Amino acid sequence: MKVIGIDIGGTSVKGVVCDREGRSLAETRRPTDARAGREAILASVASTVEALLGDHPEAAAIGIGTAGRVNAADGIVVYATDNLPGWQGMNLKAWAEAAFGRPAFADNDANAALLGESWIGAARGLRDVVMLTLGTGVGGANMAGGELIRGANWSGGEWGHAVLVPEGTACNCGRSGCIEQYLSGTALVRLASEAAGRPYPSGLDVLNAAAAGERPAQETVDRFVFRLAVAAGNIANGLDPEAIVIGGGVVDAHPLWWPAFRSALAHAGSHADVRPAQLGNRAGTLGAAKLALDGLSGGPAA
Ligand code: BGC
Ligand code: ZN
Repeated sequence: MKVIGIDIGGTSVKGVVCDREGRSLAETRRPTDARAGREAILASVASTVEALLGDHPEAAAIGIGTAGRVNAADGIVVYATDNLPGWQGMNLKAWAEAAFGRPAFADNDANAALLGESWIGAARGLRDVVMLTLGTGVGGANMAGGELIRGANWSGGEWGHAVLVPEGTACNCGRSGCIEQYLSGTALVRLASEAAGRPYPSGLDVLNAAAAGERPAQETVDRFVFRLAVAAGNIANGLDPEAIVIGGGVVDAHPLWWPAFRSALAHAGSHADVRPAQLGNRAGTLGAAKLALDGLSGGPAA
């Protein structure tokens, strides 16, 4: 059996066709600014799915991961922050089933990423895991006993909107000082650019500048690593998972900052087992595909 997995991110829509073992057979992506609104996102999803179905018409179902709180039982986005205008209320499941004539399933993007990492990545074989994704925003997901804990209101694991700096930077969710404002790739670029008085094009540029000894970038990355250790230490204290898996774009360049992160954690007295995501930026699409496979077999996604 083959299924399609779709990941709706802040800057692109990505898609995969894979088999039951998670072997990827085709992949594609469409650059998309999620802030452009509902119709623009749906047009990108449609063109991504159609391209994949063109080569793999036998794909039996579609799984979709998206930012926002998602009612995974009926596939509706029940809440989205201001950086996804018009997304709240979107019935992704009904829309995709009508558009593509196949069963569809939807969930939060970080939940999907954790499904992927637990299936064939860094959390394989583990039952109690927390995931953080550090990308355009900060996503989070909790798994206990091998099941995602989606919460009473579908916001389980939304670590990105846990407050890290009281009265800090205003967040798109209406609070101030959320983790997302300090630990996303977007935040890393913003904080380093403020510190250096010049714009850095990407998180990778900041990390490279820090590694090359540029002082403002170095200080920003030091603070980033320290704050990530505080967040991970708090999560470990509260939930005591077997591992905390950290993914998202910032983790693609993890060799540049992971040793400093580990020593900040040790310095804070935490023994948390922290692991970089193994699937990289494919965790979301492969995890969405797993959501579809589970859904078809009447598993948790249904
Ligand atoms: C959203 C989350 C999402 C994360 C990563 C945050 O801004 O509130 O729902 O998982 O970004 O995309
Ligand atoms: Zn927030």
